Amino acid sequence: MRAAVLRAYGEDLAIEEVPRPACPEDGVVLKVLACGVCRSDWHGWRGEHPRVRPGQIPGHEYCGIVEEAGPRSGWKPGDRVIAPFLLACGNCPSCREGNQTVCPDQRLPGFVEPGAFAEYVAVPLAHNLTRLPEGMSPTLAAGMGCRVTTAWHALTGRAQVRPGEWVAVHGTGGVGMAAVALGHAMGARMIAVDIVPEKLEMARRMGAEAALDAGAGDVAQAIRDITGGGAHVSLEALGIEATARASIACLRPLGRHVQVGMPVGSTADMTLPMNLVYTGQLALYGTRGMPSWRYPSLFAFLETTGLDLMPLIGREIPLSAASAALRAMNGPTPPGVDVITDFTA
Ligand SMILES: [Zn+2]
Ligand SMILES: [Zn+2]
Repeated sequence: MRAAVLRAYGEDLAIEEVPRPACPEDGVVLKVLACGVCRSDWHGWRGEHPRVRPGQIPGHEYCGIVEEAGPRSGWKPGDRVIAPFLLACGNCPSCREGNQTVCPDQRLPGFVEPGAFAEYVAVPLAHNLTRLPEGMSPTLAAGMGCRVTTAWHALTGRAQVRPGEWVAVHGTGGVGMAAVALGHAMGARMIAVDIVPEKLEMARRMGAEAALDAGAGDVAQAIRDITGGGAHVSLEALGIEATARASIACLRPLGRHVQVGMPVGSTADMTLPMNLVYTGQLALYGTRGMPSWRYPSLFAFLETTGLDLMPLIGREIPLSAASAALRAMNGPTPPGVDVITDFTA
């Protein structure tokens, strides 16, 4: 099968013919229909991700059709499914409590095991899979494995955002823009922050009441002014110090900061204004992914609100364009995410 393989950090992925993966007993082999290109892939490609090594096939935001089903998978060939990017064991105390995102025995296709920048991907622990809802395009569904689910869990599972609350989103890449759209549809009052004018325009279209240029001055002060004292909730969706500082500083007393962006490599250690955490009695949440049992809550929300997330998709690209998509993330990127939908070109 055709696959894009990381051979050297920062260099173009090699498009290679590799053997099709074997089917796990408890899992499936999917024919990949769509796979998003995510900032986490970029971290891996740059050599900053703690787990990604040369030889890795990236790709963790995928949707596919079951080609082969293991005897203990619970699926059958032809089923169309979405996979969360972290596959939880299902048996440990965290999993049994419903906290699959902190399962210590996670499997991670795209980071540790071969991912979905390929015609086929093996998915172990198939109890993590969710059926693709009728009428949802695979292109859109690819984002349901990482960005959209991460935004949903950050807003609802972690920060417990309530209608009418002010929610700031620092960084409007895939997960940030998804948070703007979801938060707005939840009845929260959204403020988007970025440095790319086109992204700020798009955030307004997705429901942001205000969209602020982070390069134009003290963005935290601007948010405190707009909201009459600070946001109730603030999401940091880049994983860098400047935005994490602004996210904490824009909150009102008792506000909740949610660390959605992945601090990694040069940004793994940050200096944060802990005096504000103390004086404002703020809460800091970390979040990563979404437990797979929460998929129905997200799908029901999308159905009842009629929220159309297709505008989040920037471009459908062939596998051979994945390298260019990663390289583009070295600088400010245009709005919308890249999704690989043609694995033969
Ligand atoms: Zn991702
Ligand atoms: Zn577990």
